[in-house]
Amino acid sequence: MVLTFMTGTAVVTAAPAQADGCYTWSRTLREGTSGADVTQLQIRLSGYPGQGAVLAVDGSFGPATKAALKRFQSAYGLASDGVAGPATYSKIYALQDNDCTPVHFSYAELNKCNSTWSGGAVSAATAKSNALRTMWKLEALRHALGDKPIRVTSGFRSKSCNSAVGGATNSRHLYGDSADLGAGPHSLCTLAKQARNHGFRGILGPGYPGHNDHTHVDHRASRHWSAPTCGI
Ligand SMILES: [Zn+2]
Repeated sequence: MVLTFMTGTAVVTAAPAQADGCYTWSRTLREGTSGADVTQLQIRLSGYPGQGAVLAVDGSFGPATKAALKRFQSAYGLASDGVAGPATYSKIYALQDNDCTPVHFSYAELNKCNSTWSGGAVSAATAKSNALRTMWKLEALRHALGDKPIRVTSGFRSKSCNSAVGGATNSRHLYGDSADLGAGPHSLCTLAKQARNHGFRGILGPGYPGHNDHTHVDHRASRHWSAPTCGI
């Protein structure tokens, strides 16, 4: 039970949060289950599809979701049984903010263009949900690289923002699922190489034209990885 008292401007929480303003799971999920709660789980597991793979966010808990969940559990020191119960949910609650973004990334960080998410190649709602999935992939990448900060230098762009920075006319930044990552504390090649494990179909880094000062990751329709300086 969680008791929250509001006294003036101070908020005192009496116990570690077991859920937050984002989403609360009400049942155990395992292979064979389906529904909106599976979809919510899959969004948070987007960064754990296995090397070169992308986890479908389809509301259906199949073998790929089970394998992703086992990777997630193992990454956080939980019993790796592929069943989402209280221990898994507790870890996810600890990892997410009230707006459902992972704790180390924010909508503002993924959109330095405008506050509405409009003007891109997809609806504002789609762009924002694409960015959310990308943030969960980045959270997995960040954790895999030792929980050191990852700096996002560009995310969603409207068509006008994209042309202002000289982006390609078909840039994935118009879809909201792209992130440009800056160097430090990780090298651009470390980011590009590790990103292959976290559900990014698009990875462009050093040696690819225009990408010597950042590593770009995205969720395009088919795989395109190129960072020749890094051996990718
Ligand atoms: Zn980019």
